[in-house]
Amino acid sequence: MQCADLVPFLTFVSEKPVLEHFNFCPSCGSNLISLDSEIRVHCDDCSFTLYSNPTCSAGALIFDDAGRLLVVERANDPSKGKYGIPGGFTDLGERLEEVVIREAKEEVNLALDSVTFFASFPNTYRHRNVAYAVTDTYFLAKVASFDAISPQESEVAGIQFVDPKTVPQEQWAFDSLRQAIALLLSEQ
Ligand SMILES: [Zn+2]
Repeated sequence: MQCADLVPFLTFVSEKPVLEHFNFCPSCGSNLISLDSEIRVHCDDCSFTLYSNPTCSAGALIFDDAGRLLVVERANDPSKGKYGIPGGFTDLGERLEEVVIREAKEEVNLALDSVTFFASFPNTYRHRNVAYAVTDTYFLAKVASFDAISPQESEVAGIQFVDPKTVPQEQWAFDSLRQAIALLLSEQ
């Protein structure tokens, strides 16, 4: 089968949790694998077991002096065109606080002065037919100056400062962000 022949099939398949994509044992190649819900895949031939846990992400809730929230218009799917905040996935060995600082620098070229944990919510990140379980964490962040602000064009289509109360619910890129904003507004 040519690669091109696979495309209609792949686009037909809806996003599935990572483990449900395994057809063979990744260690010995046996097809005698058993899936234990979304928690683990186990090989009955060689006893190899692979566990699936949520990955982590961290995002920065940054407000300007007028109390407006910095949002980034996503340049790519998932949720292309919708509002996210500067943030991303943890690299191996990285602290969540470091993720927030690194991503704010990468995505909008802002140096964060301080980051304080605010809340976390589970999320599903759907990308190329895989539904990744993620624990999204949100940090309140402060910056000394917005002078250097600049979008990372490969990921950010635009930067805006918005009043979160006026943003339509469907405009937020992720359910977890929607929940974080709701919590934020309820505490104001
Ligand atoms: Zn095996």
